[in-house]
Amino acid sequence: MMSGTLTRTLAIVRLADRLLREAGVDAAPVSTGLVQTLHPEIEILPAPLGPVASSLVIPGPASSIGKVRLFFHERQSIPRQRFSIAHEYGHYLLHHLKLLDSEAPTDPALREAEADRFASWLLVPLWLLDQAAENISYNAEDKTALERMSYRLASRFNVSRSCMNRALFELFHLRKAFEGSAAAKHRQAKR
Ligand SMILES: [Zn+2]
Repeated sequence: MMSGTLTRTLAIVRLADRLLREAGVDAAPVSTGLVQTLHPEIEILPAPLGPVASSLVIPGPASSIGKVRLFFHERQSIPRQRFSIAHEYGHYLLHHLKLLDSEAPTDPALREAEADRFASWLLVPLWLLDQAAENISYNAEDKTALERMSYRLASRFNVSRSCMNRALFELFHLRKAFEGSAAAKHRQAKR
């Protein structure tokens, strides 16, 4: 159901924001150390995982290892590692602890999309990106300027270029929507 999906997406964004506030994050880059600050039961470990980018191992009730183990691929670039950690953290909160009121999707593709959405909001919260990109406007014509900006911001937030491109796309979309509604209000007020 579409509206249910939207409600859940917004709840994921709110959850990520709450965690950022709890961890006192107010500047980029967001440290993945916040995972252990907020959830000390998680142990983050490097592992040569082969084709898998990352994984989450939740101990069973009979396990002697009390900790949740979050493995990331040690051969990946730092931005990819950070994204993988945030992604697995998302699975833990959304699909294991089930912190949201709504039912978690059973479709694996949807679960992956949720973890990605959580990770990208956690590492590139749009309110931080909005400040960082304050004087930059989106000009689809000027591809070079856009590339340069994305490159600079990706390194500032310590995320991959593809992650930053997605976040910038969302930011410009939101800005446009706000400008649109502000202009509409203005028109109405003038009537
Ligand atoms: Zn996943």
